[in-house]
Amino acid sequence: MKAAVYLGKEQLPVQEIAVPSLEDGEVLLKVGACNVCGTDRRTYRNGDKKIQPPRVLGHEFCGTVVESRSGADANVKVGDRVVQYIVLPCGECRYCKRGRSNLCLSRTTMAYHYDGAFAPYVRVPAPYVRNGSLFRVENDLPDDQMGLAEPLGCVINAHASRLNIGLEDTVAIIGAGPIGVMHAVVSRLQGAQRVWMLDVSQQRLDRASGFDVDGVVRVAQDGSHLEKMQDLTGGLGADVVIVACSVASAQADALEIAGKAARIEFFGGLPKSNPSATLNTNHLHYKECVVTGSYSEKMSDFQAAQALLQSGRFPADKIVTHHLPLERIEEAFPLMETGEALKVCIRPGD
Ligand SMILES: [Zn+2]
Ligand SMILES: [Zn+2]
Repeated sequence: MKAAVYLGKEQLPVQEIAVPSLEDGEVLLKVGACNVCGTDRRTYRNGDKKIQPPRVLGHEFCGTVVESRSGADANVKVGDRVVQYIVLPCGECRYCKRGRSNLCLSRTTMAYHYDGAFAPYVRVPAPYVRNGSLFRVENDLPDDQMGLAEPLGCVINAHASRLNIGLEDTVAIIGAGPIGVMHAVVSRLQGAQRVWMLDVSQQRLDRASGFDVDGVVRVAQDGSHLEKMQDLTGGLGADVVIVACSVASAQADALEIAGKAARIEFFGGLPKSNPSATLNTNHLHYKECVVTGSYSEKMSDFQAAQALLQSGRFPADKIVTHHLPLERIEEAFPLMETGEALKVCIRPGD
């Protein structure tokens, strides 16, 4: 079969590799769709020390069980369409025992420790099958839209664990890429009074306007977006500010935009080569703000994400904007970088 194999920085050739053969307890999926994650783009551009090449990338997938050696104890059978919670926590460490399994000290992850789904077939190792990491898709939502369960689960981790947005809150989101848009939708579903999105790209803002948001604001060099946010919030600032981009100045802006007693979420990390931001921490002092981050997702977040997608109440159809055959996977990265695409889907079987 042909697979996109990561060999190192800017090396992602489509190569012939063997269809995985199964051992006891394992399941083979035929991949219907695998979406390209911001993480895939970062790995492609900068490399990733956690990934030992050669490795098939691709972790936002939906597929059909075509072979199973997992016996009767598995919760899926041949013919089932499934999505997978891609993290396998150890279940034993301090953080797993505290219910924070995304922070597990010895977790493994599909597409990092095992081959992923930028290939026509993906093998699900036995411990994942036993852990109940495969979730059956019961509705007819297309594979590319169900593939959003993984990033949506990461978004829900931030909301369910810490942000707790409700009817009393106004929300500002900096970064109108796919993650920012998903934060906007979830904030609205949580009951937010007002949701605004900010970005440097007019193209991304125009697309974000097509979702259920109250307004979009262009981030400008001269800082005029900060005044605009003051106007929009009646001089109060927002109750919740979510930074959905990997930009230090956006993290600084978040503290400016935040109102008193605000919750501030730094969703994306900064580049490892330059992870520092200059923040006016007096905002935290005088406004009693809380700053938090979030990393990956727990199984409960993934369960909620796939259930929300299956409910049909999530505008998944508007988030997957581009489709490419596997051979053209490298074209996905510039589409994401320019803001032309929100989510790019690869259909490895095409
Ligand atoms: Zn992802
Ligand atoms: Zn653990």
